[in-house]
Amino acid sequence: MIAVNVEEKLFQNRYRVDAGRPHIQIKDADICTNTCQDKSCTYVCPASCYKAEGNGTVTLITDGCLECGSCRIICSEHANVNWEYPRGGHGILFKFG
Ligand code: SF4
Ligand code: SF4
Repeated sequence: MIAVNVEEKLFQNRYRVDAGRPHIQIKDADICTNTCQDKSCTYVCPASCYKAEGNGTVTLITDGCLECGSCRIICSEHANVNWEYPRGGHGILFKFG
């Protein structure tokens, strides 16, 4: 059996970007910067969509999102994530097997 790591498996998926219409948004960037200590979204997201910047801010780029919902759950204390599925025809296309 050939060993395949997670990054290689993820690379097999395809993603159709809905340009200018991200399906997940941070509601209030100031809460991320000033209130949220852990910034848990930046390490729970399997697709690395959230990134902690050196100046304390958090950026979100939803390209490659796996629609797992983890960021919505992990941010429940602050409820600072607007989460929807992508519009039809957009988003992740999983390749199984
Ligand atoms: S967990 Fe929520 S509040 Fe904290 S940095 Fe992420 S999106 Fe912002
Ligand atoms: S739904 Fe999952 S993959 Fe998409 S941004 Fe949130 S944690 Fe990352």
